Amino acid sequence: MSRRACVIGAGPNGLAAAIVLAQAGLRVDVFEAEPTAGGAVRTLELTLPGFRHDFGSAVYPLGAGSRFFASLPLSEYGLEWIHSSAPVAHPLDDGTAVVLEGDLGDARRSLGEDGKSWSELMRPFVERWHDFASDVLRPVSLIPKHPLLMARFGINALRSASTIAGRFRSERTRALFAGLAAHSTLGLEEVLSGAFGMLMAIPAHAVGWPIPRGGAQSLTNALCGYLAKLGGKISTSSRLERIEQLSDYDLQMFDVTPRQLLAIAGERFTQPFRRQLQRFRYGPGVFKVDYALSSPIPWRAGECLRAATVHVGGAFDEVAASEKAVRAGLHPERPFVLLVQPSLFDPSRGPSGKQTAWAYCHVPNGSTENMLPRLESQIERFAPGFRDCVVARKVFSPADLETKDANLVGGDIGGGALDASQFLFRPTWRHYATSDPGIYLCSSSTPPGGGVHGMCGYHAARAALAKFS
Ligand SMILES: Cc1cc2nc3c(=O)[nH]c(=O)nc-3n(C[C@H](O)[C@H](O)[C@H](O)COP(=O)(O)OP(=O)(O)OC[C@H]3O[C@@H](n4cnc5c(N)ncnc54)[C@H](O)[C@@H]3O)c2cc1C
Repeated sequence: MSRRACVIGAGPNGLAAAIVLAQAGLRVDVFEAEPTAGGAVRTLELTLPGFRHDFGSAVYPLGAGSRFFASLPLSEYGLEWIHSSAPVAHPLDDGTAVVLEGDLGDARRSLGEDGKSWSELMRPFVERWHDFASDVLRPVSLIPKHPLLMARFGINALRSASTIAGRFRSERTRALFAGLAAHSTLGLEEVLSGAFGMLMAIPAHAVGWPIPRGGAQSLTNALCGYLAKLGGKISTSSRLERIEQLSDYDLQMFDVTPRQLLAIAGERFTQPFRRQLQRFRYGPGVFKVDYALSSPIPWRAGECLRAATVHVGGAFDEVAASEKAVRAGLHPERPFVLLVQPSLFDPSRGPSGKQTAWAYCHVPNGSTENMLPRLESQIERFAPGFRDCVVARKVFSPADLETKDANLVGGDIGGGALDASQFLFRPTWRHYATSDPGIYLCSSSTPPGGGVHGMCGYHAARAALAKFS
């Protein structure tokens, strides 16, 4: 009889874990609370019939660059990456935009006086993306697989985004780097924020920032399809409230965050381990809006139409002030807005001639503030007439996000704060293991953290299999 494993939660990490376990010959059952699999990788008709919106994630630099996803036959199950002509654009108040070109040589030319510095900073990691990714998309190790490369990264990465941006002479390049670093939800003066900026820029040149044809759901469907081929079974609308609901499994793998794990299985753990989980901290939340649009966004800088992702927030100092306010528990007057306009590159997202867009800004965890006027003012600032193009919108407060995916605690999209201590010990020094030898965690609350790459699930399943064999 083959051994049996269950996975609670069918987000990308739960599905990745399930696939690794099924590949190893275990019989795998996945239980998912929502009516469809995918967690924050789902596409839903959130506004009007025919408009297909990505509920959570939308753009996949780490998905396209994931060694694990690349090892799976996902294209046979319908996954097709679409690359916009440039990965990201960042409009400025003078009516122009800084556009980050995908090709590093083109980026060097287009960034003018900063092109050389940009290229020198990124090139070592772009050229060795797979080596680099295999070290950064796993728990931090004292002995990395590529020590010289990682030492080189570490020198820059421990610096703040503000220090790294200090290398650039032009305000334009500094603004571009601010937008990349602000994905971290860290203040741009904080340690590790520079690493995030680089971790966003490097794949832009190495693998791109693609979107899946048909939306995020295509990635989830491909993972589910391959898991089914391996014999794995997924039960949707099956929320696990208490661990006693589960029948006997040799291994229980949880794609949930520490707070949920404590509620479901707290009494299975030792008291010290429970205390460690209770100390886990969540990061800022997001306030998100999905738009059905009558036309493309009327950017003043037409170059913005070349990029699926647009960073809306102006100069470095403004982006930094927005993120600093959120870290201090405040709501910025001029929030930094991350915006994606997928239908420009994938017509399947909406009815013919119509467009979709997705935008969010960071807010304090659990915020109830209505950020809609401020978020739209920021878009209008760089795209006058934007509001006139809105046919319908769906607003998600942090609490609304959590009702559709219980892992988005207080609107935190990263599975927990990613500051220095939770970067090293995520969620505890045991990483994937718990004090119960049959229970493992595999969500983005484990290394390497947030983002759709499946590597939390991959490493969690490998760690569990190593203990079992
Ligand atoms: C608005 C938003 C925008 C984002 N943008 C991007 C982006 O563009 N690119 C990117 O790479 N990343 C992005 N992310 C982050 C990325 O989506 C997450 O890091 C990733 O989905 C984490 O995967 P996961 O499997 O750990 O958790 P999730 O995707 O959250 O999946 C967890 C699953 O577990 C289920 N679950 C929870 N509790 C239970 C229970 N008790 N019983 C059964 N099932 C349960 C949930 O319903 C969910 O399906 C974004 C996230 C959000 C929300």
